[in-house]
Amino acid sequence: MNIPEQETLLINFLTDAELAEWKTYFSSRLPDLRLAAWDDVSVDPLSVRYVLVWEPEAGQLARFPHLRVILSEAAGVDHLLSDSTLPPDIPITRMVTPETAARMADYVTMASYMLVRRLPEIIQTQRHKRWAAHLAGGLASETAVGILGLGRLGTAVAQRLLANGFTVNGWSRSAKTVPGVVGFYGAKGLSPFLTRSQIMVNLLPDTAETRGIINDDFLAQLPDGAGIINVGRGHQLQHDALLRALDRGRVSGAVLDVFPQEPLPEDDPLWCHPGVIVTSHVASLISHQSKAQHALTIIQADRAGQALPLVFNRTLGY
Ligand code: NDP
Repeated sequence: MNIPEQETLLINFLTDAELAEWKTYFSSRLPDLRLAAWDDVSVDPLSVRYVLVWEPEAGQLARFPHLRVILSEAAGVDHLLSDSTLPPDIPITRMVTPETAARMADYVTMASYMLVRRLPEIIQTQRHKRWAAHLAGGLASETAVGILGLGRLGTAVAQRLLANGFTVNGWSRSAKTVPGVVGFYGAKGLSPFLTRSQIMVNLLPDTAETRGIINDDFLAQLPDGAGIINVGRGHQLQHDALLRALDRGRVSGAVLDVFPQEPLPEDDPLWCHPGVIVTSHVASLISHQSKAQHALTIIQADRAGQALPLVFNRTLGY
């Protein structure tokens, strides 16, 4: 079988204007690479070496026998793994750019301040036109934030929180040293981490081990009136447990960006719970410019035969 010399990068979810933007970016940097939209029927499947995808229909990636790299459009790759025909030996790279980290640090810092300054309660009092001078809230410098998952994003978030005067604890699978962060790791490190984290930020990847991890027992170990920020994945937080903890006052407020089912169904009690702020998986949506820079780095490394950055580890599951 002849392998076409022309190499193609197929890109999911683009408007014509966005594709034009990508083509302009690549034309001076990798002029021999063809860029095409996912549904462009003129593309020869044999020419496809790279795909940038979010949640392709099962079986679609198996159509490209000369595929070299699957570039995930997100930091997590859970959306790709349900495809049983996913080519087993093709590296999958995660999309984590400087903009991803900066946006995540912005979001978690905003959410931490919202919880410290009791914003969920303040929003309720405003809605009912009630003056609430007692809702002054606490101080960042007197608040300890715990970050579950001290990886690329967890570390960027930790650094920003430290710069804002918060105390920061981190929990990871293996021992980690991040200057200024009190580190805990493994099953044994979880309880001491939880008992000293007044705000708990979830930034774990979606794996068999992390799914459902935030349950009744987990929440019961947090200090009374703790706050929860979920920016990892929806399946890691058991919503029934969160609702029970909110209703008992064990948890004072939650800022949630990710959900087991997205969009969050209309009848979900979280939409209207007075202690909860819902955002629509927007914590770290990045620009096309940032995605294109990332894709260029990956493709250049692949063509140069160098180790690819940010490769998903199929054994660890993240
Ligand atoms: P990394 O792979 O860099 O970091 C993952 C961290 O989680 C590591 O510190 C790892 O430990 C830790 N970890 C993994 N499994 C366990 C476990 N079983 N027990 C304890 N710690 C564990 O990931 P990123 O920081 O790049 O991204 C994290 C997640 O954030 C993504 O997977 C995605 O789900 C989510 N995300 C959400 C976005 C949003 O908009 N809401 C946007 C981007 C990402 P160790 O260091 O020991 O390996």
